[in-house]
Amino acid sequence: MINSMEKDMNCYFHEKVTARTTCIACGKALCSECLVEIDGSAACRGECEKTVKKLKAIIYREEASSLKYRPFITTLLLLATGLYLCSLGYNSESLLNFNFTLGALLFAIGIINLISNVMSLLLVRDN
Ligand SMILES: [Zn+2]
Ligand SMILES: [Zn+2]
Repeated sequence: MINSMEKDMNCYFHEKVTARTTCIACGKALCSECLVEIDGSAACRGECEKTVKKLKAIIYREEASSLKYRPFITTLLLLATGLYLCSLGYNSESLLNFNFTLGALLFAIGIINLISNVMSLLLVRDN
């Protein structure tokens, strides 16, 4: 959230009003009347506000696109580890051995994981 300023610092636009914070775009001291809060950051109204909003939008877009596919790495790991353990256990006389059971379990979790990831991707796309 917004950091509080030293007591004797006054607003850039209002000489007699104590500043609450500084603009993250230009560094001017701002009172609560002059600042605009954008996702926990403060900026001047007007140009700085636009700049900060634009920057935040770019950051969010990048975060969203990298987050979108990150869950699939976990899914792939689960499926791959599951298959590997299954193949280790498959050669044994009984399929009810530790490797195969664990592998099948991981594979099943991987499938559930995949389905829920695909579902959430589809839901995001609908919005
Ligand atoms: Zn500013
Ligand atoms: Zn002010």
